[in-house]
Amino acid sequence: MHADGDSGGRALNSRPRSADGAHHEGLIAVCLALLLGLFAVAVAGVVPQESGVAVAIGTPVATSADVEGLPLRSAEGGRTSATLLRFDLPEGGGDGSRWVVRVERNAVESVWLQRGQWRSRQLGFFSPDGSEGVLPSSYVFPLPAGWTGPVEVELHALGSVRRTLHPRVMSETQATRLEQYGVAASAMIYASLFTIGLLALALFSAARDRLFLALFAFTLVALLTMAAVNGHLYQLPGLRAFAFWRLQGVSALALLLCAAWLQMLLQYADANQERPLRKRIVDYASLGLVAVAAVCLLNVPQVAIVLQHVQIVLFSLALLLGLGILVDAARRRVLMAWPLAVMAVLTLVGVVMVELSTRGHLLDTVLIRYGYQMGSVVGVAILSVGLIGRIGEYRHQRDRELLARADTERRMQREAARSDLVAELQAKLRMLPVGDTQWTAFRLLLDRLMPLLPVERCVVAARGYHGHDLLVVDPVECMEPVKTQVGKRELALKRQAANAIALQQPVTVEGQPSIVAIEAVVPLQIRAPAWGVLLLQRAGADGFTTEELSLASDFARLTLLHVDQAVAAVNLRRSAELDALTGSLNRRTIDQWLARTFSEGAREQQPASILFIDLDHFKSVNDRHGHACGDFCLRNVAMALRGALSEGDLFGRYGGEEFIAILPGRSGAAARVIAEQLRMAVENLHLDWSGQPLRLTVSVGVATRLEHEETPDAALERADRALYSAKAHGRNCVQVAPAVFS
Ligand code: GH3
Ligand code: MG
Ligand code: MG
Repeated sequence: MHADGDSGGRALNSRPRSADGAHHEGLIAVCLALLLGLFAVAVAGVVPQESGVAVAIGTPVATSADVEGLPLRSAEGGRTSATLLRFDLPEGGGDGSRWVVRVERNAVESVWLQRGQWRSRQLGFFSPDGSEGVLPSSYVFPLPAGWTGPVEVELHALGSVRRTLHPRVMSETQATRLEQYGVAASAMIYASLFTIGLLALALFSAARDRLFLALFAFTLVALLTMAAVNGHLYQLPGLRAFAFWRLQGVSALALLLCAAWLQMLLQYADANQERPLRKRIVDYASLGLVAVAAVCLLNVPQVAIVLQHVQIVLFSLALLLGLGILVDAARRRVLMAWPLAVMAVLTLVGVVMVELSTRGHLLDTVLIRYGYQMGSVVGVAILSVGLIGRIGEYRHQRDRELLARADTERRMQREAARSDLVAELQAKLRMLPVGDTQWTAFRLLLDRLMPLLPVERCVVAARGYHGHDLLVVDPVECMEPVKTQVGKRELALKRQAANAIALQQPVTVEGQPSIVAIEAVVPLQIRAPAWGVLLLQRAGADGFTTEELSLASDFARLTLLHVDQAVAAVNLRRSAELDALTGSLNRRTIDQWLARTFSEGAREQQPASILFIDLDHFKSVNDRHGHACGDFCLRNVAMALRGALSEGDLFGRYGGEEFIAILPGRSGAAARVIAEQLRMAVENLHLDWSGQPLRLTVSVGVATRLEHEETPDAALERADRALYSAKAHGRNCVQVAPAVFS
């Protein structure tokens, strides 16, 4: 493996961002248009042509409008109205079937036909007859087979008949066809609402958004309302009791539906409640609608009469208010708001048409009867699509939140690792010798850095850093190959180490074009000629982020700072202990050692000796060759003397050209031998100063600790005297001090 691009790595592309959800909305719109198209074709394509047949055959001479309000006789619980129907019946039903009178299924207490003694069966909106079949859409009265020619028959209706009943004469086959269409239409409406309700529940369980529960409730109210308006609600065993409220029950449901519609739209279009005034208006409107609905359920007949004239206004107002919300939402580009607005307009038109038709202004056809209901179903479907879009928004928001949380966690983790690193560096580097300081510090760096960055290998390589070469590798098994690699790349690495910023470069295997790993080179800011790099290697082609690189740089900078501080502290400590000229212990340190040696010796009953060593006639060296030569001599003599001493002995410069050796555990005899060795070491020293040979000698005074002595003062005094004695004896000799000088 080798890293490309010695002269500077290139920044690798960052990971691609997640795709935007915008084209999803387009896809949803296309799918929805497809569904709606199918729906429109299905509704329009199979609608039966009813009016042609009815007009051609039956000619009612008196329409209900003409005779409305002419009660034939009163009946209990309501008004009876009668209409005289006059029509010409040709021979047979045209297609061989019987003739029937078909009356739109409006909300009447009961309805029947009467002609003299003959009386048809009696049908009612709130008490459907099982014989009418499933989901009936009209009242159908078969006429006796024998009737032909001009026929007059009374259409009786009991109940508050405000609505025109639109009686029509047609063949039974035609009536059946119309009935089938009605069954299909209402079944489709109920099934759609049922499915949307289920979908809403599923979405609620998936997204945990209460809005979908609201959609479910809205769908349920819509389902009940439509079933009530069509009269199918009263076929169901559990809900038959709802017939108690008669028409007012239907009105109450419709008003509730309007309120639910407004609330639904409010939440859909204004999820963040940015328009408080509008929310208040809609809330009051919904509250008003619910209040009217509650009044309806009081079952007061006068209210019912008023309401029959007012409710269309209420519905229209609710639809218009909803439309306003939708148009505003569409302007703010809320998903599906435009189609929903269009559907609201169509539904409004449908409702108005139904109202006109019930007032006799328009022909009542199956399409008009069910059109607005289908419109509202489509509207609910579009609304649910719009709401599904909100899940997408939620997901985006949640993803963003998760990312932000992960980011905070990562930052906290890094901060913690950083302060841990600082604490460990401070604690561990304090008392280490210089060589160990670097190694320990970089080992700590890798320990703290590697858990934060997913890397397969981490290397610290440095040359001449505080006088040491360094190679720290994690994992340790890679030590040998890394050593070889670093050796080969030394020049390139040195150049990269001079960069101010971290770089990354791809790592390839010889003979293969693909990238197997990415290597980041983080330069260590070390003063030249020393240099160092931190090498991070990550498997695969995913590069390091800028954040990761700056983290590594930061950790490396911290580590270097602490190493420098620790090394400086060690140096300072040492310079305080050592003599600057000769590098041997200074007077202060020697005094400390003397005190310690004597007290320990007294405690452990061990001998200890002191040697005072003074250069002979040194003044003349200075005088003849200069002070620099004198210093040169002092350094070399110190080195020779230290070299002649053994491991446990201490050696220092006592002052001027006078040295001292402390020999722990040595008796006087042993000390004399050593003193002699020191003297000979200097005597045998051949120095050369500017081509001139220099010969030096020393005089040595020896003193040994006496049994009772715990402090060195007396012994020092004796050694000094012995040295004086050596000088007196002609210099270049050793004198041992007696226990007591006379
Ligand atoms: P003696 O044999 O009696 O010891 O003669 P001496 O010349 O060595 O006499 P003394 O010990 O009194 O002289 C000390 C001389 O050592 C004085 C000074 O010139 C020299 N000296 C002391 N300290 C230093 C130093 O740090 N560097 C140099 N070059 N000379 C020093
Ligand atoms: Mg001297
Ligand atoms: Mg001297």
